[in-house]
Amino acid sequence: MNKVMKEQEYTLESLYRYGRDVLSSCGIMEADTDAHILLEYAAQIDRSSYYLHMYDPAGKKTAEMYIKLLNRRAEREPVQYITGEAYFYGHTFLVTPDVLIPRQDTEILVAEAEKRLCPGMRVLDLCTGSGCVLLSILNSHHAEGIGSDISPAALAVAMQNQKRLGLQAEWIESDLFTRISGVFDMIVSNPPYIAADVLGELQPEVIGHEPVTALDGGLKGLEIIKRIIREAPAFLKKDGWLLLEIGFDQGDAVKRLLAEQGFKETVIIKDLEHRERVAAGRRS
Ligand code: GLN
Repeated sequence: MNKVMKEQEYTLESLYRYGRDVLSSCGIMEADTDAHILLEYAAQIDRSSYYLHMYDPAGKKTAEMYIKLLNRRAEREPVQYITGEAYFYGHTFLVTPDVLIPRQDTEILVAEAEKRLCPGMRVLDLCTGSGCVLLSILNSHHAEGIGSDISPAALAVAMQNQKRLGLQAEWIESDLFTRISGVFDMIVSNPPYIAADVLGELQPEVIGHEPVTALDGGLKGLEIIKRIIREAPAFLKKDGWLLLEIGFDQGDAVKRLLAEQGFKETVIIKDLEHRERVAAGRRS
């Protein structure tokens, strides 16, 4: 903590201002929001308590804890890994560095899946990570859900999220379809789709902290997507849907791959920023 902060009796508000300035001087875009979130986490309060007590003394313990959290954020650790939580599709999910932090863009995948769901359907979520896609679907629809991931550590996080949300699901450790059996009405996935040669250009928060296996899609980012599209028909019922999150520049290629495997009603759906985000197709 700097000298000025030591000399005065720090309040929640002065700590917040200090944190915001430290983070913005490190070039962190969301310095304002992150300073708030980290202070509330350090003080174990919510935003309304902050505004009620902002001019009260913050206490030494809170201040010391806050400084530690700020240092971690300054090292570009994502705020969600620091607090252990991320917000997605109306719910809070536990996250650890074993899983990708749920992105707002991925909410489109859930919304598109929901449009095509009927009660009682059997849904498989490949590369489930935190489980945020499957669990969001199961939260609003009565369906039978199976989540799979190559990483047992990710599945442990997904399982905790399932318990917290009070939902039923089955989890299978599997390299895509290798250990999956049976047929499904719908397969969803947010697979790794970043081209291997541009991984280094991702933000330091992403490339320095998030699991690279959840991001690296190999050549052109399409290697995992190709495998899923090739193998999915054997695991889909007739007319069953395959929905994949894709990169902003992968729409044409993915549509072609879907057509090659005989998928019908193929469509590329854009996100709120008009970037191609989800590919969908139906087994013939
Ligand atoms: N959308 C994520 C990102 O830009 C990547 C997710 C993925 O590869 N599935 O970091």
